[in-house]
Amino acid sequence: MKLCFATNNTHKVKEIQALLGNSFTLLSLADIGCAEELAEDQDTLEGNSLQKAQYVFDNYNVACFADDTGLEVEALNGEPGVYSARYAGAQRNSDDNIELLLKNLRGKENLKARFRTVVTLITEKGTHQFEGILTGEITFDKRGTQGFGYDPVFVAEGYTQTLAQLELSEKNKISHRARAVQKLVLFLRNRQHE
Ligand code: IMP
Repeated sequence: MKLCFATNNTHKVKEIQALLGNSFTLLSLADIGCAEELAEDQDTLEGNSLQKAQYVFDNYNVACFADDTGLEVEALNGEPGVYSARYAGAQRNSDDNIELLLKNLRGKENLKARFRTVVTLITEKGTHQFEGILTGEITFDKRGTQGFGYDPVFVAEGYTQTLAQLELSEKNKISHRARAVQKLVLFLRNRQHE
């Protein structure tokens, strides 16, 4: 079965192709000839991932899935959430985002946070959503050089290192994205036998 992953991140495509096995051929947006920027202007992760998947399904007539992720901080009522990429502004700069996050958390005792990914799959048989969560805490002690985004200030539950201090392979085993994608893969594998 051919399945498009609505992303321009070829690294993500490779990673998920490995999880899916040979029964599925994963196509990137470039593979289906989609060069336009996909809109994601909804106010929830569910809405954004659905918006991206729906656009590809409607315009390219191919089964597809899309993901959207946010960092949800308890003491900030779930912020930055769906606005994680552009928390400190349209420049989408990770250092600026981290700085603003730490500024907004100054003086707060509760540093609990979670990453949440929502994957939306659309095929001719219908629409399904899968959620992956990684719980942890924000640290003011920014550490590590691996990963991206808020990784240098996020310590996953059960760990002392930040996500940016973990090997990528280790992060990929526990990450919110991996958890959502594992649910998607299970769903697709089970449905192969229908
Ligand atoms: P996206 O939906 O995967 O593009 O993620 C939106 C934003 O959330 C990114 O720009 C990052 O700021 C943040 N983010 C997503 N995943 C991670 C992660 O694994 N580590 C740190 N930050 C992340």
